[in-house]
Amino acid sequence: MGEVELGLFTAALGLSAPWRVTRTEFDGTQLDLWLDFPRGSRFPCPAKDCVQGACALHDTADKTWRHMDFFQHKAFLHARLPRVRCPEHGVGQIEVSWARPGSGFSMLFEAMLLILAKAMPVAKVAESAREHDTRIWRVLEHHVRAARDQEDFSAVRKVGMDETSARKGHDYVSIFADMELGRVLFATEGRDSATVARFATDLTAHGGDPDSVTDTSSDMSTAFISGIGAHLPNATMTFDRFHLAAKLSEAVDQVRRAEVTTRPELKHTRWLWLKNHARLSAKQQGELHRLMRPSATLATARALRWREDFQAFYDQDPSYAPEYLRRWCSGAKRSRLKPIKDFVALVERHREGILAWHESHLANGLLEGINSLVQAAKARARGYRNKNKMITIIYLTAAKLTLPTLTNPTPAYMT
Ligand SMILES: [Zn+2]
Repeated sequence: MGEVELGLFTAALGLSAPWRVTRTEFDGTQLDLWLDFPRGSRFPCPAKDCVQGACALHDTADKTWRHMDFFQHKAFLHARLPRVRCPEHGVGQIEVSWARPGSGFSMLFEAMLLILAKAMPVAKVAESAREHDTRIWRVLEHHVRAARDQEDFSAVRKVGMDETSARKGHDYVSIFADMELGRVLFATEGRDSATVARFATDLTAHGGDPDSVTDTSSDMSTAFISGIGAHLPNATMTFDRFHLAAKLSEAVDQVRRAEVTTRPELKHTRWLWLKNHARLSAKQQGELHRLMRPSATLATARALRWREDFQAFYDQDPSYAPEYLRRWCSGAKRSRLKPIKDFVALVERHREGILAWHESHLANGLLEGINSLVQAAKARARGYRNKNKMITIIYLTAAKLTLPTLTNPTPAYMT
């Protein structure tokens, strides 16, 4: 290959002196590029803040890195990696621009793996990259850890938290998000109050201050409530309206299930009562309307009205909202519907955090975008039992980290 082609490869790899591509070989299945430096080259000392810009070579070790494919063919970079001798710091391994220390992949290859892993299951990434998945995970875990180390949480004030399960009803992971920036700050195994303690510790480790958190949004689980009380002492709790709505829908369904034994017309109508009106078909709306007629005298219909009246709490003027809620509770208490009365008791126990919505307007619905990423993360990490793998993908996709890209394979944390 001529000087021009070698020069092109040198430029394409972004190499700077003394490094250049000295040889290439393509055998029809893979492309190999040899990188080298001229005899007598000197290198800066790798020690931080050392001013020695031209240390003598001590020795070299041959190394190979997998690089981005050349069309469908694997490509490899080869170089003799120098160690230099600094008068002040002794012998040290120099760093190279195309790969991070210890990795068997070039930076661009790693950037590509990160991009793929955001979009497809890791098992598939491994398959299409023709690498063992443990090597892929090592790359993902390295970059997520390194990028998170650089994160600054000092401005965090409003925190939403929620739990999710890796498998239905099993393997819980609690997620903490910055409600203002809409990104995941922290994810950890479990769903007990200790998860909040671990969040507070992580917040502090990133320059944040648990005492500066002014608001939280969560469900009404005692785990979160006691965790917030103990570890985010200045936060005003807002209970997530969507969790409340789900609980109340559950109550409506309990009424329906009890009533269906005597009122067969309620069979197969579960979704009519649970679904948002706007999302029912015209036919379904007609059927619901028929069941809701006062002359039908269905307890389920009364339960649904209590639910609709509760939802209207969120449309009230903030100055009237407390009175509205009080009236709703006292009315619903006399509904003679046990599940509704149980819900009233729940509301009365959590009144303050429900009213807080009118001040904070916080709801985990803001986390909706994050939630769909978390759902996707489960799919990406499917087949891996270790919950830390799911957490890695959550950070990768939902934490808005500054990770290597193809145009900038070396973000701040790598230099
Ligand atoms: Zn030095």
